[in-house]
Amino acid sequence: MSHPAEEDDPFEDLREKSSNPMRRLFAEYGRQNKLQFVVGVIASVVARVLDLIPPLVLGFAIDAIFQDSEYATILADFLPGFLPFATEAAVGSVIPATRTGQFWMTIGLIAFGFFGGAAFHWTRNWGWNSFAQNIQHAIRTDTYDKMQRLNMDFFAQKQTGEMMSILSNDVNRLERFLNEGMNSVFRLSVMVVAIAGIMIALNPQLALVALLPVPIIALFTYYFVRRIQPRYAEVRSTVGDLNSRLENNLGGVQVIKTSNTELFESERVDDVSQDYFDANWGAISIRIRFFPALRIIAGVGFVATFVVGGLWVFSGAPGPFTGTLRVGEFTTFILFTQRFIWPMAQFGSIINMYQRARASSARIFGLMDEPSRIVEDPDAEPLDVTDGQIQYDDVTFGYDEEDIVRDISFDVEGGNTVALVGPTGAGKSTVLKLLLRMYDVDEGAIRIDGTDLRDVTIPSLRQSLGYVSQESFMFYGTVEENIEYGSFGADHDEVVEAAKAAEAHEFITNLPEGYDTEIGERGVKLSGGQRQRLSIARAVLKDPDILILDEATSDVDTETEMLIQRSLDELTANRTTFAIAHRLSTIKDADQIVVLEEGQTVERGTHEELLANDELYAHLWGVQAGEIDELPEEFIERASKRASRTSAEAGDD
Ligand code: ADP
Repeated sequence: MSHPAEEDDPFEDLREKSSNPMRRLFAEYGRQNKLQFVVGVIASVVARVLDLIPPLVLGFAIDAIFQDSEYATILADFLPGFLPFATEAAVGSVIPATRTGQFWMTIGLIAFGFFGGAAFHWTRNWGWNSFAQNIQHAIRTDTYDKMQRLNMDFFAQKQTGEMMSILSNDVNRLERFLNEGMNSVFRLSVMVVAIAGIMIALNPQLALVALLPVPIIALFTYYFVRRIQPRYAEVRSTVGDLNSRLENNLGGVQVIKTSNTELFESERVDDVSQDYFDANWGAISIRIRFFPALRIIAGVGFVATFVVGGLWVFSGAPGPFTGTLRVGEFTTFILFTQRFIWPMAQFGSIINMYQRARASSARIFGLMDEPSRIVEDPDAEPLDVTDGQIQYDDVTFGYDEEDIVRDISFDVEGGNTVALVGPTGAGKSTVLKLLLRMYDVDEGAIRIDGTDLRDVTIPSLRQSLGYVSQESFMFYGTVEENIEYGSFGADHDEVVEAAKAAEAHEFITNLPEGYDTEIGERGVKLSGGQRQRLSIARAVLKDPDILILDEATSDVDTETEMLIQRSLDELTANRTTFAIAHRLSTIKDADQIVVLEEGQTVERGTHEELLANDELYAHLWGVQAGEIDELPEEFIERASKRASRTSAEAGDD
């Protein structure tokens, strides 16, 4: 039916939707960490200012102590506003009158600059790091919370990778900018503003020479970033190709060995690795030229300052320059020129970091803003299952524009079992997903004991339903934790009881640590049948009003299937059950069998009734029971038509 078509990459939309993500980042998350931010800003400024004390004071000291200038005159020259202070009164009270005194004061100030600087560097790092870490943590958990509530469409294979990348790469990139980036922004601004200010106060003419590299470096790094960015994009894309190829090959190594295609695969890996190498080298060759070039610009600026300043000191103002330059001032200039060149080199990487952080926060907020298709009615009441009677009333639904199931109608009496049967792609799982309310019907209604699913709260609905699927996913943790999953608080005896009912107790007690055995990557690997019995135990423990079995006994050997079947019979005895099964023998005792084909109900009845009907079900049964060799022509034709349509659709992607 008419949902807006999903784009190939739903994140593309999301990125565009969120305008000015950085402002939103600071407004929503920065505000909660105001203290850290303020500490970071103040400490950055103070730390940098303290860093500038030693060269400045050293310059003063050279002129006042080692040359023949007066401290008061130097200060008055440096800061005309300081004049009232820099009188004889100041020298003598704040500033010692003797040269020895001034010498020790200079040493004291320089030491203060170093030690104070160290203390404020620590404070600054504390501020920015905790600012960035707090935001990183808050964003990651918020995004995860939001992501869990998204529609199932989002979790299709193609997008889980993308979501992992948002939760890890994008969130980390933000952290990097908030910490290193913000740190550098303040460092750079304070350095440039303060150094330029001091230089201009000392000698505006020489400042002009010394500051000449600043705009040149800014332009140069901007140009560098513009050139290298597409190279980095290429590197990321080729490394993505390389990783996919390696992952794919390692996963398929058995096929490679048995097909004797090692050489072929080695060549394919060689090709993608070569692409990565080339892309990387393209970036490297630009990058390694950047720093030497920067050094040259900085060096030219330094030499120019040295030549002009040096000539000025020993033979008076050169060329167009006027006035005097003291040796100390000259020293301060030389020391400062060295200091701001390197922070300037970071100008480009700050822009780069900012742009990446902006793209990342656009993706993060895009994900957070994604509306959920399933919206709970504000007046929804908790579901109270009495009989467990279920009604599908003219249900029509499609994931996109195309209807996948049409006009499905059937009633299930409380406590009965209904089986859904039909070829792959007929829409059986879709019918069940609608009952679980993973999606809402487009037309018609599904009712439990007469109440429309859309009128009940979602948690109460899901609590009433137990779902055992073919995948039987297990979480990292112990066997007991996995059985208890969703029924937290059950005691050990109840867990054992459930495991016994699911025919799982015996194999569990044979595991190295019984119920406390870890399963998953770091623990024992369970077979498909064992996992399935654990997920049945999970359902037994949950004791739901309505049970859904989605091919719960596929992929297991016949013996295990019989074991599972026994436990299932017990589980389904007195509750409404929906079952999908390919092996018709497992569902032939169902109270009702609904046969679906291309999203429509084609037959309905008990096993005997359907056999008597002699249509699709009877033929499928005949083939599976070995009574007939193959399906009649018309069914095969329909099946191959369906198959070709599905592969054409797949080819469109
Ligand atoms: P069955 O369980 O009978 O094999 P399904 O209900 O899984 O059938 O699928 C019915 C049809 O719906 C198939 O054509 C399938 O491609 C399509 N389909 C299933 N899930 C989705 C989805 N999340 N988005 C789009 N189409 C889907």
